[in-house]
Amino acid sequence: MTTSAIVSDSRPDLLDLEPDAALSVLRAWFAERGEPAYRATQVLGRLWQKPVAAFAEMSELPMALRDALDASFRLTNLELATQQTSKDGTRKFLFRLEDGQFIETVAIPDGDRLTFCISSQAGCALQCAFCATGAMGFQRNLRPSEIAGQVRALRMLEPPLIPTNIVFMGMGEPLMNWKAVSPTLTLLNDPRALGIGARHITISTVGVLPGIQALAERPEQFRLAISIHAPSDELRRSLMPVNIKYPLADVIDAAKAFDRRVTFEYVMLGGVNDQPEHAAQLGQLARECRAFVNLIPLHPGGSMGFVPTAQPVIASFARALRDRGVETAVRRSRGLDIAAACGQLRTERVGRRLPVTPQHDGEVHVAQ
Ligand code: SAH
Repeated sequence: MTTSAIVSDSRPDLLDLEPDAALSVLRAWFAERGEPAYRATQVLGRLWQKPVAAFAEMSELPMALRDALDASFRLTNLELATQQTSKDGTRKFLFRLEDGQFIETVAIPDGDRLTFCISSQAGCALQCAFCATGAMGFQRNLRPSEIAGQVRALRMLEPPLIPTNIVFMGMGEPLMNWKAVSPTLTLLNDPRALGIGARHITISTVGVLPGIQALAERPEQFRLAISIHAPSDELRRSLMPVNIKYPLADVIDAAKAFDRRVTFEYVMLGGVNDQPEHAAQLGQLARECRAFVNLIPLHPGGSMGFVPTAQPVIASFARALRDRGVETAVRRSRGLDIAAACGQLRTERVGRRLPVTPQHDGEVHVAQ
């Protein structure tokens, strides 16, 4: 490694810092150079609100300052490796990270909403049986600059994509990367950064209890979605190994204790979890938690031996839940023509020998 590479690696990345922290680092840095404090605010504005890829493009700053900033700080950029657009307007982006990892982001338009489905980890450790990610295994946690950075990167497109909603339903388990996800939530929400309302930001989790607790302690109204997928411990254990560590009853208690309404996600697996008795059990749990249920058709690609539940069976399952007073939505599949399940782009690009990544499709309904 050359000396310059070591120096460049050691530069702190302003994109990993929450706005207050970034401002105080920048104010101190400008003060040392006898520059006014408003310069710090100018730089912050160019990180997230009107983002630029490099200090060199911060045209409101004198050139010498741009060079000096570049010598002191990193600005991580996600390299757009490839993208696809569906007939229905859904767009998938594959980003290459500095160390060669690939992650995916999906942009789903729906009326006047634009939802970004973002990744929080490269790979995933949880090995849910129906999720293609299991085969890939866990690669590494993403940093805030790489999670919020997905939104930043799409804002830098021409024309820019500006999301109204964010869901953590891409690759990875966000509550197993709370150290980075917590500052990311601040970056997504803070008006000095990405300025997305907390109620428009949804964390999806298998039920990592300490993470749910940490999320509950945040004062903002971020939304929580829990991947339930089975209404009994026995079935859930067979589909989601994490149920051994965090059993269903404890997850349900955490959902009850959460001070905002939660959404239950439930992937419909033909003949496995879609029978009338499952609807009865799920309806009971959802009522106890006053949860909103989101039924997710299994994505056809890479379904690991599972078959999708037929549409009329999904409809009657939904009816059975509604008859029990549970608010229920059936998620619409989107972007099927572009292999919009997360992981498929990566697989096409990187090759079949690499493990595949999680699936994601469609319309996302969360409790209002
Ligand atoms: N780890 C988090 C977030 C990532 S997955 C979680 O599990 O909640 C986001 C959602 O996509 C989860 O509900 C997951 O179960 C679902 N999913 C995974 N594989 C799927 C598939 N093949 N078809 C449809 N949804 C799937």
